Amino acid sequence: MKIIKTKHQAKDQLLKYKNVGKSIGLVPTMGALHEGHLNLVEKSKYHSDVTVVSIFVNPTQFNNLADLEKYPRTVEEDLKLLESKGVDYVFLPDVEEMYPQEAKLKMDFGDLETILEGALRPGHFNGVGIVVSKLFHIINPDYAYFGQKDLQQVAIIRQMVNDLSFGVELVVVPTVREADGLAMSSRNRRLNPADRKNALVLYESMVFAKNELLAGRTWFELKDKIQHKFNQLDGVKLEYFELVETDTLNIVVEQHITDFDQGKKYSLCTAAFVGDVRLIDNLPI
Ligand code: AMP
Repeated sequence: MKIIKTKHQAKDQLLKYKNVGKSIGLVPTMGALHEGHLNLVEKSKYHSDVTVVSIFVNPTQFNNLADLEKYPRTVEEDLKLLESKGVDYVFLPDVEEMYPQEAKLKMDFGDLETILEGALRPGHFNGVGIVVSKLFHIINPDYAYFGQKDLQQVAIIRQMVNDLSFGVELVVVPTVREADGLAMSSRNRRLNPADRKNALVLYESMVFAKNELLAGRTWFELKDKIQHKFNQLDGVKLEYFELVETDTLNIVVEQHITDFDQGKKYSLCTAAFVGDVRLIDNLPI
């Protein structure tokens, strides 16, 4: 496994594969790797000739400085894990390499960034768009692997790839969960034992809501019950709990599942603070 730290090294090392028609798979991450990330790596290993994993805690996508500072960084462990998975290259740039000057470009994702994460984390998706564009230009992958865990991020990147004609195919990989259902996340490392227990409310509420919706309960009735479940837990604050069309992320206001369009897919999306850790999750219906 080779470590690449600069754009120049990336071109130098990766162009030779392109020239002989080998496909490059990119798995963008912010490190503090877990089984969710490794699942993306496995998909890339299976599907692409050469696998590149990037590890970069991207400052421009954090709209909260404390969150950026507390973001777990475990590079040595990450590299060992990636080596054990047979990754070919790790792209490990520093901030100066990625941002030799401040990025002034602003990406406008329209309706997609006015809802859910976009509404609560101003500037977040602009930072995601900028860094993913940079990674696509530097690595020039044929395939890029993203987790369904960040459903809105996938929609944003898909829009960017289409609008800007990036020649990369996106591959979306299902969410990997702990045995009790909590979605794996680098931020889970920051949960204390009590918060770790409370964090399960995100997944359990989505499973509850899914079952109740399928049993014919109204969405209005359910939303109150869900809010109540979150309110009962100390130090837990629900940010949103929405039913959306999976492809567009349009928020659904219909009351009964029988009113839903049978041709469309739907998902539940939620975000909550558990202690001072902000978690997100979603569940397809
Ligand atoms: P991050 O390091 O949090 O930026 O995540 C890097 C990639 O891993 C993103 O595409 C995430 O959606 C994906 N990812 C994070 N957690 C999971 C998970 N539990 N299951 C599957 N993919 C995940």
